[in-house]
Formats: sequence, C-alpha cells, structure tokens
Amino acid sequence: MSKVGMGLSLLAARLTGRRFPCMVNWAVTGRCNLRCRHCYGDYGAAQKAELPLDLLLRTVDELQAMGTRRITLEGGEPLVRPDIVRLVDHIRSRRIEIALCTNGILLPGLLDELAGKIDLFVLSLDGSEPYNDWLRGKGAYRKTLAALEALRERGIRPLIFSCLIDRNMDDIDAVVRVAREVGAYVTFNIAVARIGDQNGRVPLQKEQDAAYRRAIAHIVRLKRQGAPVYYSLGNYRQALSWPTFAVESYRREDLPAMARAARRRMIPCLAGRYWCYIECNGEVYPCYQVVGTLAAKNIREHGVRQAFEHLASLSTCCRCYNLTLSELNLQAGLDPRAVLRVVRNYFFTKRAGRSS
Ligand code: SF4
Ligand code: SF4
Repeated sequence: MSKVGMGLSLLAARLTGRRFPCMVNWAVTGRCNLRCRHCYGDYGAAQKAELPLDLLLRTVDELQAMGTRRITLEGGEPLVRPDIVRLVDHIRSRRIEIALCTNGILLPGLLDELAGKIDLFVLSLDGSEPYNDWLRGKGAYRKTLAALEALRERGIRPLIFSCLIDRNMDDIDAVVRVAREVGAYVTFNIAVARIGDQNGRVPLQKEQDAAYRRAIAHIVRLKRQGAPVYYSLGNYRQALSWPTFAVESYRREDLPAMARAARRRMIPCLAGRYWCYIECNGEVYPCYQVVGTLAAKNIREHGVRQAFEHLASLSTCCRCYNLTLSELNLQAGLDPRAVLRVVRNYFFTKRAGRSS
C-alpha cells in the first residue's frame, strides 16, 4: 500500500539522514481563469514562462528516481493546461500519488478523463456565495458548487480548501455546511495578508490576532463536534498559540524565545528536506511562501535533483503558522495523527472514487 511505502521511506530517510522530496507541490502553470483578490501568487496576472510538457514528464521521471511518493498539482489553475491529462497519466504510470488543487471551473468537463486517476481533488471555496464571489469573481461560487456536485455524483470525496482572511471569518459555518452537503472534507488556512482598501494586500496586523484566534478556536470546536475538518488538531493548536499572526515565520535563532511565547513546541519545518515546491517557471523552493526570497535553482538548467539538493545550502525560516505548510510538516515528520488522517482519507477515497 502506497501510504505504508511513503511512511517507510520517510522513516528510513530520517534514520539515515537522507534528504529526498517525498512530497512535491508543483505549480504547473502561472495562468488562471480567475482573478481572485487574495491570490498569493498574483497568478491571475502572472506572466512567468511555464515549463513545456516534455520537461514536465522528464522531471516526473527524475522525481520518481529520487523517491517522490506524492505530487500535488497546483497553479495558477492546473486545468488550464491543455496537456494536463497527459501529465496526470504519466505521473500515475510512475506510481506516484496525485492531489489536484483546482478552482473547479473546468473540472466537470474533464472529469471523465481524470476520475480514477486523482487521489485527492482539492477545490477552493472561501465562503457563502456573496462573499466568495466578491473575492473570486461573479459566478465562481456556483461553478465550484457544480464541480463539487459532479464529484459527489461519482462518489468521490474531495477536500474543500478555504482561505481565512479578515472579511470571511463569519463564513466558516457556511463552508462547513457545503462540505457536509456534498460529502467533502474541509480545511481552512490563514491568509498571510489581508485585503487592503484599494484591493492591494497588506500584512496581518497584531490587532487582528484576537479575531483570528476566535475563528481558529471555532474551527477546533467544529472538528471536535464531528465536522469533517481535515487538518490535524495539533496544527490548529499551534496556530492558536502563535505569538502574533503579524509574524509569518521564525528563523532558527528566534526559536527559544518564540517557543516560550507560544507555550508549546512549534511544528518543525521539514520543507526542503522531505518535501518541496516547484514554481511554474521551474524554480525549486522549500515551500511556496518563500518564493522569490531565496536564490533558488531552476530545473530548466539544473534538473530537479540538483535544484532540490541546492536547498540544503539555503538559510530560511524554520517555523511558521501557515496551516497548509504545517500539515505537510506534520506528515513529513510522521506525526501519528496526521498520518492516521491521511491513511483514513486514502481508504475512503479508494472505496468511493478510484477505479484504478
Ligand atoms: S483560483 Fe487560485 S491561482 Fe487562480 S487567481 Fe484564484 S487564488 Fe489565484
Ligand atoms: S517555516 Fe514555513 S514558510 Fe518557512 S520554509 Fe518552512 S514551511 Fe516554508
């Protein structure tokens, strides 16, 4: 079973001190069919040249040789690539698990080709219809709902990904309600910036900490009451005790003081050691949050092995409150609850949605 294989490879790597990209989050395009106000990568407008299919396929082969067990395809919007099904087929032929992050708009038209090949569909929905459409554009809510319905009709259990910013924290219940209706898991991440008055993004301010903590405490309550909240409690607990959301991450030298301030052990960062992020132009980073802040190598010139190995020489942050990244860190660190959740989801998806 591939989850056992993933766990064993991580365990062996930890025992031997080997670094390898067990999990890879890969923005396969910078293009997108939406222009969301909160887009962290400005992908709606991004002009970074994306990699051609032949290089993507060669990179998959190289990743397989390095021991990669799961690739998460993201963007931009990965489904705008006309060759996305060929890429998916190639990844599957190399026996690597696939998660697909999408806004869902193009999904119904591609579902015949993709169902049975994707291990986890992740769809973005940020709140009730008025709020979601204010953020993502008119009509986005209904289109994402249609994609969720199409998955439900096939018995596939997806994950709804919801981004918390200062204006949608009252919409948590609305998203959980949708998740229940369509039989999905749901997860919430905290946007590291809020939307400013002119729609520019500005960093979170200390004064907003209390509101974010209330929102996270509410999510924890919902999870304890049986809501299908996906991320681990330990992850939300770290966010609850994070000293201030105005600081996204800490470096190694800040740790002793910050760990005391946070009153608990912070989740160690394993990005660049057991997982990594590939930007749409081919640059390899520890994670998406540090894109553009490090001297990354590009797989166009160096190949993915060298670009990944180069991460060991970069100095970066080592703790953050980003819930998505922290969940990956929990999985890569073989945290029992995070692993159990992944295994549970695997069996459910296998029964309900996969045909191969
Ligand atoms: S769907 Fe995602 S990638 Fe596209 S604009 Fe919105 S947040 Fe950015
Ligand atoms: S601490 Fe967080 S932001 Fe920093 S490299 Fe690790 S995962 Fe990325």
